[in-house]
Amino acid sequence: MRDAKNRFTGGVPQRTVDGLHKAGIDLIRGHARFTGSQTLSVDDRHFTAEAIVVATGAVPMPLPIPGAGLVIDSSAFLELAHLPERIVFIGGGFIAFEFAHFASRLGPSGTRCIILEAAPRPLGPFDAEMVARLSAASAEEGIEIRCNVAITGIERAGKEFIVTTADNQRVTADLVVHGAGRIPDFKDLDLAAAGIEASARGIRVDDRMTTSNPRVYAVGDCAATIQLARVADAEAQVAAEAIIARRTGQESHTAMDYSAVPATLFTYPQYAMVGKTEKALQEAATPYFKSSAHGLGWPTYRRVGLHSAAYKVLADREGQILGAHIIADNATGIINTFALAMQNRIPVADLHRQSIMTPYPSRESDLIYMLAPLLA
Ligand SMILES: Cc1cc2nc3c(=O)[nH]c(=O)nc-3n(C[C@H](O)[C@H](O)[C@H](O)COP(=O)(O)OP(=O)(O)OC[C@H]3O[C@@H](n4cnc5c(N)ncnc54)[C@H](O)[C@@H]3O)c2cc1C
Repeated sequence: MRDAKNRFTGGVPQRTVDGLHKAGIDLIRGHARFTGSQTLSVDDRHFTAEAIVVATGAVPMPLPIPGAGLVIDSSAFLELAHLPERIVFIGGGFIAFEFAHFASRLGPSGTRCIILEAAPRPLGPFDAEMVARLSAASAEEGIEIRCNVAITGIERAGKEFIVTTADNQRVTADLVVHGAGRIPDFKDLDLAAAGIEASARGIRVDDRMTTSNPRVYAVGDCAATIQLARVADAEAQVAAEAIIARRTGQESHTAMDYSAVPATLFTYPQYAMVGKTEKALQEAATPYFKSSAHGLGWPTYRRVGLHSAAYKVLADREGQILGAHIIADNATGIINTFALAMQNRIPVADLHRQSIMTPYPSRESDLIYMLAPLLA
């Protein structure tokens, strides 16, 4: 698996470089840094541009813990030749969950993963009730999640590592992995030289991905938006359209809209969501109707022996979907239908009617069961 991954991630393939060249795009390898509002240096070369797009991504956040140097990050995890039996993850975000599920299935039998989370619950941006269900499904795979944990240090003891906590826990592991999140990567860019504003969340952008410098755009993980691959792609598209429109003295009609961005945790089962969590609706005092169930016994899941499938659909009075949350073996497919319904403002009644002829027994064919309680 590692070798297959490296074939995929190891550098930019020559055919891609050739394709870029054919399209009139030069690839210059090196570290870029701003030297002025429209100028950049890459090592000892200097460039001036009509428009500049920053797309520098994100890096693992520094861990302010003694012994943090003993922790490996996600890139190093994916380079391991063998998975050890006892793995501790620092932080309960999507990387920790996905890697823990990966290790619990592909590691030696008896693999034990422990996720140590500082907050009262892991996966903060996801729906609390659904996260509790995913955590219960994870526990069945030998993944333990401990919350409200303040890590005080990491030490090496021979071949082992000891993680200590403020409440005197000592967790022994063969490997300690960084799962505490990623921060926008712009520390060596000298944004100030170009008058670009940024915070710890990322580079500030408007809905056309323009930064505080009107000649500079920021897209992807370095922008203060959402760190997902396809969000980066959508932002790049919006920035490109804005740059082209500007050349003709117009404003682009295409703006970013983050109200229906689907996100999936690639665990087993997967948890996918789009739109709001129930708590977010409650905090905003938004009235909503809910259809939800867990331990789904529909044939789609009985057939494959999955007993932890669950769903929650939230809709407003007019039948517009406000949020959808799916735990299933193909939550990704189902969530996409909800995302399309939200993006195109398809109300529950129409979506229900359009879903009746979905090929059966696909996961998507269950949509009618999820939507029916909202029809009344
Ligand atoms: C373990 C892991 C799993 C993930 N899984 C998913 C997933 O399942 N689905 C999903 O949607 N997203 C996932 N993501 C997030 C996804 O990888 C990012 O959202 C996406 O890669 C962002 O693209 P980007 O172009 O902004 O940044 P990147 O892909 O990080 O690219 C940024 C590039 O800029 C280069 N760079 C940085 N600074 C400079 C500089 N000064 N000069 C020149 N070059 C520079 C970097 O070296 C890098 O090559 C995952 C991330 C991780 C770490």
